[in-house]
Amino acid sequence: MMKASLERTPLAALSRPVAGTIGNALIVTLPGSPKAVKENLTALLEGGVLSHAIDLIGGGASSTTPGHTHPHHDHSHAHVHSHTHPHHAPTPKSHDPSLGAHARHRHSPYPMIELKDALEIVEKYCRPLRAVSIMPVNQNLRGSVLAEDVYASVQLPSHPSTNVDGYAVKSTYAPGVYHVLTPQSFHTRKGIPLPDGSIYRINTGSPLPNGADAVIMVEDTELVTITGPASQRVEGSLSSQTESGEEETVRLLVGTEPGENVRQPGSDVKKGSLVLEKGTVIQAVGGEVGALTFIGKKQVPVYKKPVVAIMSTGNELVDLHNTRNFPSEEHGKDGWQGIFDTNRPSLQAALEGFGYQVVDLGIVADDEESHVSTIKRGLQEADLLLTTGGTSMGTSDLLKPVIERQLGGIVHFGRLNLKPGKPTTFATVNSKPLFALPGNPASAIVMFHIFVLPALRMLGGWPISRCFLPRIRVKISDELYVDTRPEFHRVYVRASGDGLVASSTGGQRSSRIASLAGANGLVILPGRAKDSKNDRLHAGSMIEVVMIGEMGAAE
Ligand code: AMP
Ligand code: MG
Repeated sequence: MMKASLERTPLAALSRPVAGTIGNALIVTLPGSPKAVKENLTALLEGGVLSHAIDLIGGGASSTTPGHTHPHHDHSHAHVHSHTHPHHAPTPKSHDPSLGAHARHRHSPYPMIELKDALEIVEKYCRPLRAVSIMPVNQNLRGSVLAEDVYASVQLPSHPSTNVDGYAVKSTYAPGVYHVLTPQSFHTRKGIPLPDGSIYRINTGSPLPNGADAVIMVEDTELVTITGPASQRVEGSLSSQTESGEEETVRLLVGTEPGENVRQPGSDVKKGSLVLEKGTVIQAVGGEVGALTFIGKKQVPVYKKPVVAIMSTGNELVDLHNTRNFPSEEHGKDGWQGIFDTNRPSLQAALEGFGYQVVDLGIVADDEESHVSTIKRGLQEADLLLTTGGTSMGTSDLLKPVIERQLGGIVHFGRLNLKPGKPTTFATVNSKPLFALPGNPASAIVMFHIFVLPALRMLGGWPISRCFLPRIRVKISDELYVDTRPEFHRVYVRASGDGLVASSTGGQRSSRIASLAGANGLVILPGRAKDSKNDRLHAGSMIEVVMIGEMGAAE
């Protein structure tokens, strides 16, 4: 608008056009004069600007940038998605890999930030995906989040019904012998009232006949006579019952009170009541699927679950099951120096375990072209991209330069005051989140649980308080070394007579993935002051742990 107006008159510089979004609505303010309105609208409509903006609001990656935008400079999403973004992608901090050795950084240009700040940044850029889909209510709802409140359109039970197996009675009945009606001989639905002196045989959950207001448990009764050809008195001689007979008379051994053993209409669910709130996570526990089914809700709107694309980077990596390029199966003996790609299988296991669909982009060689094409594919096919390796200071560390220089993305943080996980990088490309995790297998898994899983839950519309894995206080059973950097120490947490106890899983080097085998928690060791000599935390100390797996049972 500004550009088009300036072409007409330099006075356009005095107008203050504003464009922005509220939710899914694009808001554009136009100037006051009818002539200027017409000119501005023409500029918006003819330049393809409006359709581009609407595409972006709809969550589209918008490959169709309006005419004049430079393809490697596509920062246009920044205008639409956040008012706090700068209007232009910031100047890349990463080195330009095409410039050779002299241009490489010897110190990271990215500021070292604290975990808490990093999590806030992730929260800011990982908003629920806009797409909502209507899903049938069944087992596949697990892990989804309701996008709307669900109300009961019926009351349950719909009629007074029984809590027990026994006989529907009038609460005025005294103990004694009564005539038995059964579902075969008497239809409660027709609304015929229970005749005086009769009782109605009834099973748990069934409706009471009109006129009955209490139920006596079968245990509090005795059979007196049975019907049929072999009808006879059986009192005191139960052996003479025949198989064809039905109960004819029964003795109630007790009296009762109005409402006893009766579930009143609407006592389980009131008509019109809120059954599940918007934002409810459908757990694998089963309660939510049960609650929806119980009220006869056939389908519900849920937020789209994010799809994750994963890729490993590194020329040294070999796919465990595709060893064609191996010198031999016994690679170790032949001096083969490759490394099995550990991160894709471990991350995929974690992702699918948490219910996310994964697009496997494979192993990507350490060159810009492979990086660019694979990342582009990932961003097209998934809602979040997860890469490992290539984030530190090595010559082949291409993630940051590729994101900033080739894909027009914004690196929101590139270095953390944390161990493991220092080079963890978070960026958005066309507003899609991208985590470039460190290559070391233990770091990748730890960072996954701290950052990526919460981000996926945010995208999936989980309430923010539930996005992060729970933190609890435990007692440590071993003395732990305390580094100057805050550290996640891998532990196994179990219940004991003495409360929750965490024991270290051993060596914590970031390449030692074995320290995660069997681990279900990450003790959060705050960094020690640089001048502090005390680098030990005593066994028996209480400390906070992030639970990443199921709690261990007491031994
Ligand atoms: P990088 O940041 O790419 O230099 O990776 C750091 C370390 O992690 C190097 O020793 C890599 O060989 C190793 N690494 C990177 N990616 C993987 C992977 N997918 N599986 C196992 N090790 C990896
Ligand atoms: Mg590498």
